[in-house]
Amino acid sequence: MNEALSKAVAERKDELVALTADLIRFPTINPPGEAYTPCAQYIAAQLTARGFETRLIRAEGTPGDTSRYPRTNIVARREGFRPGPTVHFNSHIDVVEAGEGWTVDPFAGVVRDGKVFGRGACDMKGGLAASIIAVDAFLAVYPDFAGAIEISGTVDEESGGYGGVAYLARQGFFSKPRVDHVIIPEPLNKDRICLGHRGVWWAEIETKGSIAHGSMPFLGDSAIRHMAAVLSAFEEELYPALDAKQTDMPVVPEGARRSTLNINSIHGGQTEDYFPALPSPTVADSCRLVIDRRFLIEEKIEEVKDEVISILERLKEERPRFDYELRNLLEVLPTMTERDAPVPQALAIAIRAVFGKEPDYVISPGTYDQKHIARIGHLHDCVAYGPGMLELAHRPDEWVGIEDMVQSATVMAMGLDVLLRGTAE
Ligand SMILES: [Zn+2]
Repeated sequence: MNEALSKAVAERKDELVALTADLIRFPTINPPGEAYTPCAQYIAAQLTARGFETRLIRAEGTPGDTSRYPRTNIVARREGFRPGPTVHFNSHIDVVEAGEGWTVDPFAGVVRDGKVFGRGACDMKGGLAASIIAVDAFLAVYPDFAGAIEISGTVDEESGGYGGVAYLARQGFFSKPRVDHVIIPEPLNKDRICLGHRGVWWAEIETKGSIAHGSMPFLGDSAIRHMAAVLSAFEEELYPALDAKQTDMPVVPEGARRSTLNINSIHGGQTEDYFPALPSPTVADSCRLVIDRRFLIEEKIEEVKDEVISILERLKEERPRFDYELRNLLEVLPTMTERDAPVPQALAIAIRAVFGKEPDYVISPGTYDQKHIARIGHLHDCVAYGPGMLELAHRPDEWVGIEDMVQSATVMAMGLDVLLRGTAE
């Protein structure tokens, strides 16, 4: 246990709480992308005061970027006194809407009972604040360190990260030689290391029909009945096949430790906005279904798509007048960093020192910005590690525990120590 580092973090507890509360007070709601610029400016001011060079980078032309809602990211870098590796802490500054059911003001930064409450408290402004305090403590103890430290606050993670990490990765911000190691302080619990996430394929399937009077459906061809045939083939063949797929990925919760398929939406026939009039009777000439397929590192995306396409093609042969279109909406490959890569190893040493136990290694059921760092930046020494419970994210009365943040910041500071100074005291 590095006592000097742990003391330096503990001394900054009040500062950590104040930082978290301040960050929550910027209502960085996405969509539409509210208050990104003032929040980024605040982070820049905090880091400039700590000796960082800071840059605000607007992701012009990315989805949602307008003069009213600029996609403003902040990247800060502090050089050490000698050359060495660069460690980067990346947090997203956007939050989802507050929604209903709060007992406190979601954007007031309320501190009570050892917790900081607010939208984004755990996902992930508490993690961002913890990383700033971890770095501050490290710099106080080792002002003459070798290498460099970067901290970024990026936008739009909740909507895919295109104006945030993806944009910056395209410009080389998440590649060697600029950066060697990345830690993303998402709320995965203070003693767990998240190695990556499952893959995603979203697609829209449309079945076709021909319109006719509802009193004489035999004169038309119902796209909805064709879609029913698709759904029953899914039930009989696809779901059992997916249930049978096992993975070595330690996904949490355990129910997600296999391939899954959700039907995100289905719509056939006339729109529903006829109210207060009555709907007119017609045979549906179109039915659309959006599928959300989450897949495993053991699966190839081509196989994932083929499972669905082969069902659709077979129906086309077997079922009279069956026709369909398939549109890709989104695809993200699964990613999983090896446990013995430098970052997970450094964090494991730190977790053992702080908690006296082995870390749990987990995989997230959904994706986060690690995908862009792996795929665009080609940087694979990257994990998610941060305070807060994932179960509280996006919910009313979201909070992050103050003691959890302090311990997590201690782990981050010690992880830095291992990565930059090569020590494991
Ligand atoms: Zn998040």
